Amino acid sequence: MSEDILEYINLRHVFEIHEGKETQYNCPNCSEEYLFCDQGDLQFEETGESRALRYDDCWDEDWIEYSFNAVLKCKKCFEIVFCVGVGSFSRLSLYGSDEDLAKLAEEDFISRDFIPRYFYPPIKQFEIPSDCSDGVKQDINSAFSLAYCDFSASGNKLRSALEKLTNQLLPGSESNFHQKLDELKSIDLEASEILMSIKWLGNEASHESSLKQYDLTYALNALRYALSRLFDEDPKRIRGFSKMINAKKGSIVKT
Ligand SMILES: [Zn+2]
Repeated sequence: MSEDILEYINLRHVFEIHEGKETQYNCPNCSEEYLFCDQGDLQFEETGESRALRYDDCWDEDWIEYSFNAVLKCKKCFEIVFCVGVGSFSRLSLYGSDEDLAKLAEEDFISRDFIPRYFYPPIKQFEIPSDCSDGVKQDINSAFSLAYCDFSASGNKLRSALEKLTNQLLPGSESNFHQKLDELKSIDLEASEILMSIKWLGNEASHESSLKQYDLTYALNALRYALSRLFDEDPKRIRGFSKMINAKKGSIVKT
């Protein structure tokens, strides 16, 4: 496996939540602080399906599945975010002297991993540029909401956002969606190519429901970058000046 593919497979936007620890999720209100899960703010129960499986002759502790809810807090703006998801059980192999190991409680040998499926209010992967149309913003926000529970549905929403974005940026174009993405090269070559890659992933999401976490993480990161190229003031200003200078084949100010 090439290093590029290995790097792609390791892309993540879903991270475990641990009681009493800071999470890797940014506050959706102020975006300035990671949310924190205080001790006592995470509750879990074994699911009914998991309990039923205990009657199976082959049952093993690894089969245990939990559902959990957690209250996450921002220590800067005091925003509260509710989170629900699934948990798993594993037994740790701890090493040490018999004397030290004897001091440990049963719980010290147990690890429970909690993976979020939904957040409310939703976690934002990035700030959507204010100049994006309301339709584009709505689709991207829906993609954010679905980004933890259904990677393909989230990818579908991103594809829909791209269609609306091309309509916004190329209002007079009669071309189809694919051609419009190509026509965006006239505005920004790199953004056009990046948005095209998100479209391909969005197509797969529509037809095969097979997007993996790393595909969606890439698509979210790529969209953030492409939107910054298209809407941030600095690239826009430089692009505008460069076109003027190229047209004049020299400085736009002749003194
Ligand atoms: Zn905050």
